[in-house]
Amino acid sequence: MKWEEKVRQVEPYVPGEQPKLSDMIKLNTNESPYPPSPKVQEELALLEAADFRLYPDPQSTDLVAALAGRYHVGEEQVFVGVGSDDVISQVFLTFFSHGEPILFPQLTYSFYEVWADLYRISYVKVPLMEDRHIDPEDYCKPEEKGGIIFPNPNAPTGLLESIETVEQIVKANPDCVVVVDEAYIDFGGKSAIPLIEKYENLLIVQTFSKSRAMAGMRIGFAIGSKKLIDHLQAVKYSINSYTMSRAAIRLGVAAVRDDEYFRETISKIIATRERVKKELADLGFTFPDSQTNFILARHKNRSGKELYEVLRSQKIFVRRWDDPLIKDDLRITIGTDAQMDKMLDVLRMYIG
Ligand SMILES: *Cc1c(COP(=O)(O)O)cnc(C)c1O
Repeated sequence: MKWEEKVRQVEPYVPGEQPKLSDMIKLNTNESPYPPSPKVQEELALLEAADFRLYPDPQSTDLVAALAGRYHVGEEQVFVGVGSDDVISQVFLTFFSHGEPILFPQLTYSFYEVWADLYRISYVKVPLMEDRHIDPEDYCKPEEKGGIIFPNPNAPTGLLESIETVEQIVKANPDCVVVVDEAYIDFGGKSAIPLIEKYENLLIVQTFSKSRAMAGMRIGFAIGSKKLIDHLQAVKYSINSYTMSRAAIRLGVAAVRDDEYFRETISKIIATRERVKKELADLGFTFPDSQTNFILARHKNRSGKELYEVLRSQKIFVRRWDDPLIKDDLRITIGTDAQMDKMLDVLRMYIG
């Protein structure tokens, strides 16, 4: 056998592009258009050479404590990682490595399929309903499952499911771990974190990348029962104990403590989103009623590819996929009001 036949073959996740044009409008990876809290900037100025010379605290104690305080849970119920991608990857490795297939929506965060393939986990992609919502009944059938994961709100649809729907799914599945990826929950949803008191097998994952405007710092976290967190930690400490840098821990704490700024920026983004929904509808777009910081919009008589290219020619970057389910949709991140106006102007000129 040749050495190349012994290589683990994977089809990697393709992230949105990160173009390096100074005057572009970047609406393609759901980053915040606003800076992180000024407290983060202040803390950054206090970092010293020692923060680079020394290993970080493997338990990220300060960040775990800040999150536990903010979300009213015990410190033993919090796990942190290098972005929620790191956290979810470890979740797959820890909880889903059993023989039975895991379930996730057919249209969802495409990284789930990549991790499942990478870790040789079998899976079933569950179609969404006609209105693109999740049908909880699909996840409540009695067959044995290896686990369940879905984002709430879902991506890239932007649709939020109620707490009752989340609870229905968790309640029906006491024999596997149910993971709710709440990357966008802060933009109008209600977190399922309070349900962890009732369900030992429920894990909630969140990130600092979207609502806390810190995608570049790479901070994500999971909240669940002590048992779930202990299992995650055992796997983490078997791979790399020092995942969170000293800088990430300190700046993350500063961000969590500034709840006022957090609420302020989120309400700005929500106000912009609701205005943009009206303007897109006037231009002939349809879209699910997003509760996130993006809108998945489709025009009634222009193809997705065509509109993507038009925007791109004006240095406005949005996201689109060739997947037949969404090939005519553009996923447009909510930017500042000025950025959205510019995007809407380009669309208006082109569509006429
Ligand atoms: C952005 C995103 C993530 C990953 O975010 P990180 O930057 O790795 O924290 C995870 N899940 C969904 C659904 C996302 O949209």
